[in-house]
Amino acid sequence: MTRRFSVPEGVWLRGSFAVLLAAGLVPPISAAAQVPAAREGDARTAAVDVLHYDIRLELPSEGRTVRGRTGILFELLEPGLRELPLDFGALTVDSVHVDGAAAAFRHRPDRLDVQLPPAERGARPEAVIWYHGEPVDGLFLQANRHGDDSVFADNWPNRARHWFPGVDHPSDKATVEFEVEAPSVLDVVANGYLRDAVQVGRDRTRTRWTVTAEIPTYCMVVGATDFAVTRVGEVDGVEVTSWAFPPDSAAAAAAFARAPEILAFYDSLFGPFPYEKLAHVQSSTRFGGMENSSAIFYDEKRVGAATGRGENGDDMTDLVAHETVHQWFGDAVTEKDWHHLWLSEGFAEYFAAVFFEFHGGEQGRGAAELRRRMAQAAATAISYFGETGEAVYNPGERDYLELLNPNNYQKGAWILHMLRRQVGDPVFFEGIQSYYATFRDGTAWTDDFERVMEEASGLDLGWFFEQWVRRPGHPVLAIEHAPAGRGRAVVTLRQEQQVAPFRFPLDLELGWRSGTRREVVSVQGLETSWTFETPEPLETVVLDPDGWLLHEVQRRSR
Ligand SMILES: [Zn+2]
Repeated sequence: MTRRFSVPEGVWLRGSFAVLLAAGLVPPISAAAQVPAAREGDARTAAVDVLHYDIRLELPSEGRTVRGRTGILFELLEPGLRELPLDFGALTVDSVHVDGAAAAFRHRPDRLDVQLPPAERGARPEAVIWYHGEPVDGLFLQANRHGDDSVFADNWPNRARHWFPGVDHPSDKATVEFEVEAPSVLDVVANGYLRDAVQVGRDRTRTRWTVTAEIPTYCMVVGATDFAVTRVGEVDGVEVTSWAFPPDSAAAAAAFARAPEILAFYDSLFGPFPYEKLAHVQSSTRFGGMENSSAIFYDEKRVGAATGRGENGDDMTDLVAHETVHQWFGDAVTEKDWHHLWLSEGFAEYFAAVFFEFHGGEQGRGAAELRRRMAQAAATAISYFGETGEAVYNPGERDYLELLNPNNYQKGAWILHMLRRQVGDPVFFEGIQSYYATFRDGTAWTDDFERVMEEASGLDLGWFFEQWVRRPGHPVLAIEHAPAGRGRAVVTLRQEQQVAPFRFPLDLELGWRSGTRREVVSVQGLETSWTFETPEPLETVVLDPDGWLLHEVQRRSR
């Protein structure tokens, strides 16, 4: 997703979300949303594997009371399991059946345990839960920015539980079908493809959407309001549509004008798009954009304000690119736990920049534009490290919203950028394709990505991921040079950061009165020296002239 609130360049206030929350700028989030996982992953995935959600909702013509029926088809992995442990918020449970027979259940805040009949490992029962109430989170029934009725789901990180029961953890993905009965004045969009929309009674319509690939619960959404639906294009048989509030149709046309071009680019870069269609939806998400599988939700105000005349000639292109990357990374290949979020946000951030590298931005097409974007990302990541001293992988963080930080976004992007420099373009892009092909519709840890890139490159990359993902900080470099006899100079590089020395390849540009030359050196220890021959006395040494290393320079004169 994309954070909705921009942060002044170079300043990231830890807990800024909390400040906004206190100021009433963000809808309150229930304490339940911040319940930490006991450990990485979810222990329930050893006992059950949810295969499919069959979610039927009745949306009201008036008021905010929703009626729901969620069927959960799951496979038993632990023989003799007596209770199905589900996440479920405060809606009232009316009854529960397992394979058609009434089942006992215990509903306490945030948890619904359903009693199971004895069954063998590998059995595939279906639990069906009927419920009703006014959702306090996750599903928002409210007026949109034009005062029209609207209903939008907004689940990240674990708020789906407030409107349907399930295993609300990214490690347990499943397919889903939505059947939404709503007033006919509302158009309903959801994940997957439209099965049908049938009039049921005088002014109500039942709409069914099905997604056939397994997706995380945080991406399972419905949206309903009066939409102007426009076909924006088609890429490899995948229809790209825009769903906008009618008064914002022109703005949405500007906002999503490049959506097919973006989809086509990533389709060729990563491998086939994972879903049946791609809808770009104006919505009430609290995020700038939320990458719900095949139905990306965007902040209604940002879409409404789009002019097509912003940075790079289109102020939404960056956001559309970011959320579109997520369809592959985040949605199709999902981080197995929130603490590996960089596998989602770092990828979205980096490959959005790569889109502009190939299609042109402020600096035109090519390396200069990528370098400009990565320099901005570096400033943000370095500043955030100064504030927090934290590593990208930070399993101690229990407030998942705090993970929406520059470590997972900007530094995550830098990890990919440096990996690309380390292994070279062909291996890097082949490795990314292989990672997608291997883990598509599944889940991955950072170690899984590391293993794929090691296979693609034939290199041991354990040290790379250790120093950039698990260890905090970045190199702070000081460079000196001195003459070393006729036609020679000694260049000395010191790593002066507080944390242990980093290992990296480094480009140097040596300069003398009438020319320059590039050298590539390998840096490992605290201090390294190299002797270079130069045709004239060495005058300047430029570190990392093309911007491939996340670092700071310690300025000193000699
Ligand atoms: Zn994102």
